[in-house]
Amino acid sequence: PARTTAEWQAADSAHYLHPFTDFKGLANKGSRVITRADNIYLWDSEGHKILDAMSGLWCVNVGYGQQALIDAAAAQMKELPFYNSFFQTAHPPAIELAELLSQITPPQFKHVFFSGSGSEGNDTVVRMVRRYWDVLGQPQRQIIISRKNAYHGSTMAGASLGGMAGMHAQGGLPIPGISHIDQPYWVEHGRGMRRDEFGELAASWLEARILNLGAENVAAFIGEPIQGAGGVIIPPASYWPEVQRICDQYGILLVSDEVITGFGRTGRWFGCETMGFRPDLMTFAKGVTSGYVPLGGVMVGDRVAKVLIEQGGEFEHGYTYSGHPVACAVALANIRLIREQRLVERVHDDVGPYLAKAYETLREHPLVGDAETCGLMGALLLVKDKARGTPFPAELEIGMVCRGHCFGNGLIMRAVGDRMIIAPPL
Ligand code: PMP
Repeated sequence: PARTTAEWQAADSAHYLHPFTDFKGLANKGSRVITRADNIYLWDSEGHKILDAMSGLWCVNVGYGQQALIDAAAAQMKELPFYNSFFQTAHPPAIELAELLSQITPPQFKHVFFSGSGSEGNDTVVRMVRRYWDVLGQPQRQIIISRKNAYHGSTMAGASLGGMAGMHAQGGLPIPGISHIDQPYWVEHGRGMRRDEFGELAASWLEARILNLGAENVAAFIGEPIQGAGGVIIPPASYWPEVQRICDQYGILLVSDEVITGFGRTGRWFGCETMGFRPDLMTFAKGVTSGYVPLGGVMVGDRVAKVLIEQGGEFEHGYTYSGHPVACAVALANIRLIREQRLVERVHDDVGPYLAKAYETLREHPLVGDAETCGLMGALLLVKDKARGTPFPAELEIGMVCRGHCFGNGLIMRAVGDRMIIAPPL
């Protein structure tokens, strides 16, 4: 690049407000400027080579530099760089992608609504589930139940569905009609219990909340099959089947936020398949294009699609970039590449088991209190006293210390409190 690192950093702090960032703190420190990438590696403006164990932001599933995706974008830009799908128009890439998504998702999904991101996808979820109940003559069914420490995006609805206290403290959130139950995190709530018992207990909090609110007021339950930004919280195997049973019993829509867990991350195409449940709606983004261009959306299951199509009339909702042709063309190339390279099978049979085995050995480390993986997502819990499970003092910010050592050794891991997490390219 034409500029030195110091020059980039000066221009950065003068003009660029970064997401989820203490602006002043960063300006004093200076950003790390990433200039290029290939395969699983990044290079910064100082020429350091870094192994990207977070796939960017959990999204570069096929790795960097895949020519098929680059070519698909260039060809589509030449042919038709933009057109919308409002006012009774469509274009081949969006139609073809809708068709392909219906083939790779679980059988209840034959329809898709596109957005530009995961957050927008979850905004669509809120509008769609409330519309569904309205059309069915139950407009009072407004409440969507979610979990504390969930992450569902940063728009008004996305951040409201999410259960991040820091986010709710800014901007008057959550919006009305969202109710949060505790997360299925064994370390926080289940110590001393068998994991399967704890999974059932955590699911029972959903039933208790439904009864408390009145089932006739509850529209949906939304969850990430595995919480990502919350720290790779892998629920016990007993949790999701029980959540499914409860939603079925009370007729409540079940929404799986697959923004991180979709497109092979857990060793199946979607996390709900790994966790054994059958959602009515599924939010996706990130891995659908491996992050090469922005795209998100909601898979709409037959139960909801039938009502909206046959009885719904006009759905007064959509985005300029719903089904953007370049994004859809890249998604098509990306999904075909995942199929050709058998990446989902590879995570399931090869690299996933490899990672699990490697994490078993890390479990023996004196500072590691817990080590768990699912497919190519993993978390290490750092503890001061392993035998007692005593955490490090919070002011030490031990996760950030560990993250600094990782960076210093050419590795990007993310720290969520005391949990060190990874989600490398597949
Ligand atoms: N849902 C989940 C589960 C996510 O992890 C994220 C992003 N990390 C989002 C939604 C929001 O997606 P976006 O940042 O594309 O709006």
